[in-house]
Amino acid sequence: MKTVLILRGDGIGPEVTEQGVKVLRVMAAEAAIEVEVEEALIGAAALDAAGVALPEQTLARAGAADAILFGAVGDPRYDRADFYLQPGKGLLRLRRELELYANLRPVKAFSAALQASPLKAERIEGVDLMIVRELTGGIYFGEPRGIKEEAGERYALNTMIYTEREVERIVRFAFELARKRRRKLTSVDKGNALEVGRFWRDTAARIAREYADVETHHLYVDNAAMQIIREPAQFDTLVMGNMFGDILSDAAANLVGSLGMLPSASIGRHHALYEPCHGSAPDIAGRDIANPIASILSVGMLFGYSFDRPEVEATVHRAVNDVLARYRTADIMEAGKTQVGCTQMGDLIAERLQRAG
Ligand code: NAD
Repeated sequence: MKTVLILRGDGIGPEVTEQGVKVLRVMAAEAAIEVEVEEALIGAAALDAAGVALPEQTLARAGAADAILFGAVGDPRYDRADFYLQPGKGLLRLRRELELYANLRPVKAFSAALQASPLKAERIEGVDLMIVRELTGGIYFGEPRGIKEEAGERYALNTMIYTEREVERIVRFAFELARKRRRKLTSVDKGNALEVGRFWRDTAARIAREYADVETHHLYVDNAAMQIIREPAQFDTLVMGNMFGDILSDAAANLVGSLGMLPSASIGRHHALYEPCHGSAPDIAGRDIANPIASILSVGMLFGYSFDRPEVEATVHRAVNDVLARYRTADIMEAGKTQVGCTQMGDLIAERLQRAG
């Protein structure tokens, strides 16, 4: 028996997660995995009900679950609230408490929706890359930090810091993943300008010797940014620190289409959380027009990583591709296709999966 904790969150979070849960139930039955689904509050929904963005009860259940499916958090009603009362703090704390140090963002082209990309179709065809971003260290967490004043001059500072253990952990994770993919790893750093970058590169190169079966490359982050846009199909697995991963994964993810189609996983030693890359989209919430594909593909990743059933993940991707050949949500609508809402898109994909099984 596996337990999946559902954290729907705010805005379009509940609507898209509903479709993800639909697919979770269908695929659990198809794959003969007994799955118990539980629910808990996070974000503005939790602030409304309990006064905190991540109630202790939610954290405890997240810690006990085999996997977490997360929707999105964020509500304009809390935009002006104190920093600690922001719905997003709930997710940040959850990632930190569960030590979800590896963030995975797959970027895989849909042959049925190549036109959804801002690049020419021939550049996108066959793109299948995975960005592995270190999520719990680096400049976003380094101390000292702050806005200060000394001798009458104001200044701001942040600290980029990585321990050897942190770099080794994420690089090893990426090598293991690359072994299950096409055995090619690109490590990204800024070793020509930053000591942290040089340290990252030396550490990655040392670990690479343990993985002689994986072809390893090192790229400076500026070159990596250029290559990802120019020739994304050359990449398989990429690994990088927190800030570079934040930026490059957004750039890469948009190669294959709308924000509504991008799944992600955040993985630690004992826990894993799956979520769409988009936010709570208050501008379209409650109208049944959001694209649920990111949540559905996140469920596919959940089967791949938490249940060790990568073939289920591939099946989900194929079903999405098949449905996209005819049906589209508003954000990716094209002439000649039929426009559907969030629920109907979920139903179409779930039906397709039922027929595939
Ligand atoms: P957003 O991702 O919510 O929306 C950006 C744009 O993309 C909007 O126009 C929205 O309508 C569209 N969009 C997003 N997801 C879509 C989908 N599935 N289908 C169709 N269109 C979609 O980002 P934002 O507007 O900057 O932020 C809104 C709120 O979400 C804020 O409170 C922000 O803090 C929060 N946020 C949360 C997360 C998270 O929960 N992981 C991530 C990013 C932003």
